[in-house]
Amino acid sequence: MATHTQDDVTGVPPMAELSDIHLQVRATARQFSDEVVRPRAAAADESGEFPASNIREMAELGFLGLPFPEEFGGAGLDNLSYMIAVEEISRSCASTGITLAAHISLGCSPIWDFGTPEQKRKYLPRLASGKALGCFGLTEPNAGSDAGGTQTHARAVDGGWIVNGNKIYITNGSVAEVCVFTARTSKEQGTKGISSFIVEKGAPGYRVGKRENKMGLRSSDTVELIFEDCFIPKENLLGVEGQGYKQFLKTLAGGRISIGALSLGIAQGAFEAAVKYSKERQQFGQAICEFQAVQFMLADMGLKIEASRHLVYEAARRKDLGLPYSKQGAMAKLFASEAAMWCADKAIQVHGGFGYMRECPVERMFRDAKLMEIGEGTSEIQRMVIAREILKES
Ligand SMILES: Cc1cc2nc3c(=O)[nH]c(=O)nc-3n(C[C@H](O)[C@H](O)[C@H](O)COP(=O)(O)OP(=O)(O)OC[C@H]3O[C@@H](n4cnc5c(N)ncnc54)[C@H](O)[C@@H]3O)c2cc1C
Repeated sequence: MATHTQDDVTGVPPMAELSDIHLQVRATARQFSDEVVRPRAAAADESGEFPASNIREMAELGFLGLPFPEEFGGAGLDNLSYMIAVEEISRSCASTGITLAAHISLGCSPIWDFGTPEQKRKYLPRLASGKALGCFGLTEPNAGSDAGGTQTHARAVDGGWIVNGNKIYITNGSVAEVCVFTARTSKEQGTKGISSFIVEKGAPGYRVGKRENKMGLRSSDTVELIFEDCFIPKENLLGVEGQGYKQFLKTLAGGRISIGALSLGIAQGAFEAAVKYSKERQQFGQAICEFQAVQFMLADMGLKIEASRHLVYEAARRKDLGLPYSKQGAMAKLFASEAAMWCADKAIQVHGGFGYMRECPVERMFRDAKLMEIGEGTSEIQRMVIAREILKES
């Protein structure tokens, strides 16, 4: 049989088997998810209480810095390991999954990717070891999909900037010790007038505003962040002035893979619940899994999940190999999020009336899944990104 080391068409090495390390990450994350996270998920959804003990215990497992080097407090693994962990945690509790994904992809990654050596040394060990959480403030009341329309303003003063404005819907916003945010440093230069900064909890003029009451992901932290004459010292400019737009595009391109992994986890959790229930529930003298109509729902769920997993892992693998991954990340996020919504819907259908009840876990998964089609770029924006990449290639 012919062996080949690269794809004949794309020149990219073919999808490898998961390594022993990936399998070990999966086994650890799955056990933690099943034994610790799942039993707490329904109560946290009901109360809206932040899953602080899950986060503490994930920090002990090294999950909060999975893709960062050990010398910066991380676990020294890769993005694929990180996606596997997000997938497994989100099978049980997507609120915990999004807390982890926002911390790594949005809070830590911009510092890792764009920070000065001093910024990396100052912030990453605390963040990657899980001693502190991170968040990312991009969205504003008038700048959502069009985040280049940022209105938060940073005025240059002696030794730094004075920032005014507000950010909305920020995941981890009130629990994060460190926030990376964007602000306009020049009115004239369009998207080149946007810069990124780092602000720490407790900085004068920086505070938490409205706490959101959400449809799903109810125990994740989603808040408004307010800047009122907040002084940001010049050493807290992230990287280079005027690079904020480019920086957040890259940050979101990576973050999307993690939303794909979150979606995959939700879909898998809903699927497992549906398969189990279909074998237990008896109607017309037999288990409902004997009915072809139910089998077809299970078959399509399994198919969409398998396809999502390939897309998510492939995007992560490309990032790990240093290959372009914007198109693959957007495809993974778009496909997996729509698959998660579809699978959660069908999982409720398989459960019948019980699926509509708060005590049925798939009801929560249905509400949680919806955010995946919105956050870090809506499905419409993903299609625009994919089309742009396709047209660039041809
Ligand atoms: C639970 C939650 C957590 C979040 N966490 C964070 C976070 O941690 N940090 C952060 O910065 N943001 C966060 N967000 C914000 C999120 O990224 C935005 O809500 C999202 O990007 C969409 O922006 P918008 O809500 O302003 O919608 P809008 O941009 O107003 O979009 C409304 C509709 O118009 C469509 N639309 C807009 N522009 C176009 C276009 N050009 N072509 C076609 N259709 C278009 C959209 O697809 C959508 O259907 C979070 C949001 C939620 C709900």
